[in-house]
Amino acid sequence: MNFADSEVIGAILTNNGYSLTDNIDSADVIFINTCSIRENAENRIFNRLREINYYKKKKELVVGIVGCMAERMKEELLEKAPVVDIIAGPDAYRSLPRMIDEVVNDKQKAVQTVLSTNETYAEINPVRISSNGVTAFISIMRGCDNFCSYCVVPYTRGRERSRDAGTIIAEAKDLFDRGYRDVTLLGQNVNSYKWTDEEGNTVNFSKLMAMVAEISPLLRVRFATSHPKDLSDELIMTIAKYDNICKFIHLPLQSGSTEVLKRMNRKYTREWYIDRIKAIRDNIPGICIGTDIIAGFCGETEEDHQETLSLMRIAKYDYAYMFKYSVRPGTLAARKMDDDVLDEVKGRRLSEIIALQQELSLESNRHDIGKTFEVLVEGRSKRSADELYGRNSQNKVIIFPGGNIHPGEYVNVMVKECTAATLLGKIIE
Ligand code: SAH
Ligand code: SF4
Repeated sequence: MNFADSEVIGAILTNNGYSLTDNIDSADVIFINTCSIRENAENRIFNRLREINYYKKKKELVVGIVGCMAERMKEELLEKAPVVDIIAGPDAYRSLPRMIDEVVNDKQKAVQTVLSTNETYAEINPVRISSNGVTAFISIMRGCDNFCSYCVVPYTRGRERSRDAGTIIAEAKDLFDRGYRDVTLLGQNVNSYKWTDEEGNTVNFSKLMAMVAEISPLLRVRFATSHPKDLSDELIMTIAKYDNICKFIHLPLQSGSTEVLKRMNRKYTREWYIDRIKAIRDNIPGICIGTDIIAGFCGETEEDHQETLSLMRIAKYDYAYMFKYSVRPGTLAARKMDDDVLDEVKGRRLSEIIALQQELSLESNRHDIGKTFEVLVEGRSKRSADELYGRNSQNKVIIFPGGNIHPGEYVNVMVKECTAATLLGKIIE
């Protein structure tokens, strides 16, 4: 999501006469787009600012912190890091050119952290940064109203709001015309997407996905993320219906224990989640499922942890992002619950979760050996210039030898070997 936001910021600045550079030595303005989701994400920013301080000693430089950390810490950031000139929250990006002027002309610090209820940067066509020319993100909504008790997002990104469907379709069409072949529709909970036009026609997420998929059968459509409580049968059927809607669902579990889920305010139970997994697997053959898991949330017992491991085995996740619980100031958990799982216990539980996921990912990849997939080529492999890499519909990376084939082309690849992270194959004519 930050990547997509940086592309919006890039567009706002280039529309105001600035240009982008890959070379930090030639930059006059540096923005760091920040994440507050866990404490270590924020710590990394302070390390980065120390590096930037070194550049600022050599020349005149405007330094801005944008995104969630700017929103969460506001002026406090100026005290902690005097190198910073600009602080702009996620809804303040249109003000950035004016804020740079304030710093340069008026020699003032500039802070803007008011959250909006309607800003979606709808009509701004993002500049694609470090793009491979094949895959792109499209932000379809902003904010989150779910208030999971551990999560800082509703506080840093504000209320949930959906972007004008017409502008989303226009952006997807434009990308397709420019050679892009894989778009990911982004939001904190895309299943809540809802847009009503002036004539009163409402577009929900399933409808929006279908509209994007109908742009061309050659355009792959992905999405992230859907909340399990809102995973509708309608969405499952839409994914099943269109070949070019990718057969991969990211469905964050967080915990396999109903008790812990209740404290997390996730609004579903273990049984509901298992039912959703079953509905997905029964209706979409060959689907892959990914998840997010938090180890060591407040009050998590050894039994709760075992329930997470057992649910992972039931769901047979193909992929997972796994984290140690990190207290976020201002959240319900920080205010009302005890962070009572010892750090070493959190660490051990996380290691067990990661080890199990390694097994499940390897098992999932082994199942693919001998199968042939349609792969969208994304570029040359880092391992060797003779090899290409791309992804199949299930979001798995496949590496294979390929001569005269270009990024953006589709090829059929048979899987010959695998690791837990990648598939290795060869092109089938
Ligand atoms: N909106 C998405 C998640 C966005 S945050 C969803 O609800 O699915 C990405 C992931 O970060 C979450 O799924 C969660 O697993 C993790 N996360 C969020 N807050 C956290 C915290 N305080 N400590 C550890 N992990 C956290
Ligand atoms: Fe955070 Fe929950 Fe919203 Fe996801 S759904 S962003 S975890 S509050």
